[in-house]
Amino acid sequence: EHSNGSNGSHRPLIPEIKFTKLFINGEFVDSVKERTFETIDPRNGEVIAKIAEGDKEDVDLAVRAAREAFDHGPWPRMSGYERGRIMSKLADLLDENVEDIAALEALDAGKLFAVLKEGDIPSSASMIRYYAGAADKIHGEVLKMSRGLHGITLREPVGVVGHIIPWNFPTIMFFIKVAPALAAGCTMVVKPAEQTPLTALYYANLAKQAGVPDGVINVVTGFGPTAGAAISRHMDIDMVSFTGSTEVGRLIMEAAAKSNLKRVSLELGGKSPLIIFDDADIDKAAGLALVGSFYNKGEICVAGSRVYVQEGIYEEFEKKLIEKAKGWTVGDPFDPSSLQGPQVDKKQFERVLSYIEQGIREGGNLLIGGNSLGSKGYYIQPTIFTNVNEDMAIVKEEIFGPVMSLMKFKTVDEAIRRANNTTYGLVAGVVTRDIDIANKVSRSIRAGVVWVNCYFAFENDAPFGGYKMSGNGKDSGMDGLHKYLETKSVVTPIYDSPW
Ligand code: ADP
Repeated sequence: EHSNGSNGSHRPLIPEIKFTKLFINGEFVDSVKERTFETIDPRNGEVIAKIAEGDKEDVDLAVRAAREAFDHGPWPRMSGYERGRIMSKLADLLDENVEDIAALEALDAGKLFAVLKEGDIPSSASMIRYYAGAADKIHGEVLKMSRGLHGITLREPVGVVGHIIPWNFPTIMFFIKVAPALAAGCTMVVKPAEQTPLTALYYANLAKQAGVPDGVINVVTGFGPTAGAAISRHMDIDMVSFTGSTEVGRLIMEAAAKSNLKRVSLELGGKSPLIIFDDADIDKAAGLALVGSFYNKGEICVAGSRVYVQEGIYEEFEKKLIEKAKGWTVGDPFDPSSLQGPQVDKKQFERVLSYIEQGIREGGNLLIGGNSLGSKGYYIQPTIFTNVNEDMAIVKEEIFGPVMSLMKFKTVDEAIRRANNTTYGLVAGVVTRDIDIANKVSRSIRAGVVWVNCYFAFENDAPFGGYKMSGNGKDSGMDGLHKYLETKSVVTPIYDSPW
């Protein structure tokens, strides 16, 4: 049963909104132009708070602070051990303030309070600890030189990093970038998404409390084409790390190329396949498909929104899926019984609904859902299409909403071919008990992560990032740390040498 999302009775726990200004060089400040923008509660469209609107001048100030902290400050010069200790303190502060943070983010992003409290925030604390533990284990190599030379490599922090963060996982995306960059000894300017600025500012304050020196983390709230673009074309930023749409990723890479050729790491869109074979446990597979498409209201780059089911179990699977989808409750993100809150804002809400309309126009058959829910707020029914194929927009393009395309296939080779028939390559899921099929499919899919008999199985130690137009560079794992390091070769003669 879908509850109406406009239920306003779940309003507990919401903390006072203390941090609404830019965080530059250890201080909360107004933007130079003293402009603000509104951040909106997606449950009802009401204004939560006015947030300082940073632009180019503010990015300049933030970069100046980060540059100074990198070139002359203690952070890159501290031992990795000391950096790790401060980072561990920051992780503890996340745990201590988990209720406040979860409430802020549920309010700002329409994400489920319970999931934030049990999932996003503690798992971000654990990611900070993972990189805190790595901070004193960054080292180079002794090279095997072919001549009378002694060679070593040093691993040095890349410098000032610009992090541009999306709105769908404001906390996880903040720390998946900030934590390894801190461990590496970088300094940074972070731009959270304009839809969800509240927790990033809160983290700026926690970092200060933990003892991160001034200028190391600067947070500039504001819009993409202004503040975001100022970061990607800045001459004094050494690297930009971005998570967001493929379209904006292209703009960022272009701006980097046109300015100072800063390093660019991109985690972009996806349209990921979940392939379910005849031998699968149908109940479990239907559960994975549901979560894969509707988790976080489908606002997730790794959504498994193309579900391929082998013909032998297709009919039974479809029945099971419908049955389970009926228990997928949409409602207020503060209500513990909700499995899906509102889409993040009006723009996304309208975009998802227009994709659904397009799916219907192109001949898709609505198995369930297809409409918005309630009279206010941005709630959408979980929606499943059948009678669709890879030529249709809803199967080709990233929708970023609770919309699944359910398709039938015959052979393993057909499944691989159709799964790879996309410009994206972020993740894939495979459900089978046959080890040979699992091995063949996981090695044949052109994607950065393959989950076999699971989905969303994220781990701090597992690198994550796309093939093809889903981006380049990895977040998470040791790869996610190494991208914030430069390798320098240092060579000296070991005996009287003519070189
Ligand atoms: P979405 O389209 O889903 O909102 P975006 O890729 O536009 O996702 O947003 C991700 C992040 O990129 C946000 O912080 C946004 O402000 C930022 N952004 C948007 N446009 C640009 C741009 N032209 N240059 C740099 N950053 C941008």
